[in-house]
Amino acid sequence: MRSTNGTGPMTLVAPPAPDDHDRQIDVVAAEQAATKLLAALGADLSEEGLRDTPRRMVAAYSELLAAQAFQPTTFPNDDGYDELIVVGAIPFHSLCMHHVLPFQGVAHIGYLPGERIIGLSKLGRVVERFARDLQIQERMTTQIADWLQEELEPRGVGVVLEAEHLCMSLRGLQKLGTKTVTSALHGLVRDDARTRQEFLALTTRSTHEQ
Ligand code: ZN
Repeated sequence: MRSTNGTGPMTLVAPPAPDDHDRQIDVVAAEQAATKLLAALGADLSEEGLRDTPRRMVAAYSELLAAQAFQPTTFPNDDGYDELIVVGAIPFHSLCMHHVLPFQGVAHIGYLPGERIIGLSKLGRVVERFARDLQIQERMTTQIADWLQEELEPRGVGVVLEAEHLCMSLRGLQKLGTKTVTSALHGLVRDDARTRQEFLALTTRSTHEQ
């Protein structure tokens, strides 16, 4: 991924692979299934308010599960920036894989740049890309960290997710507002005590500033 200034041969950059996250939703089949599910749950679908519910359910789930395709743009770290870059409290919502109920919260992301950096706003897109899926929070945390590791090859990566799971709080397994916290730390963010503390201090602070 190198551009030239005209003196050397042009380096061709292969187009990015299509997003493997593209999801095919069979709307007709989903609406039929939603109708059956509601009926099986004892709903009277002739009731005025329920008549259009299968369609609305499918529209809502389709939206919740549709990740916008995006091209990760990374830049050479020309200035040799070597301090921790942290973006905290990136809001997200997702659907839990086990109950298909929402969980939502914030993501804190930090990395120690190596040769490449990424636009800060892109980090939110990375979170969203993995959030718009049937998910479990631990896996989503790891996926974000692995993605950054692969795309940026940084010297360290930290990802912390804090989320409330409706499947737990609504069913009384947890108090409303209780957050589940997951983290994935790689490289120097994991192994260097000072960097790890710095990252965790910054993520804690951004949480309290919400
Ligand atoms: Zn759940």
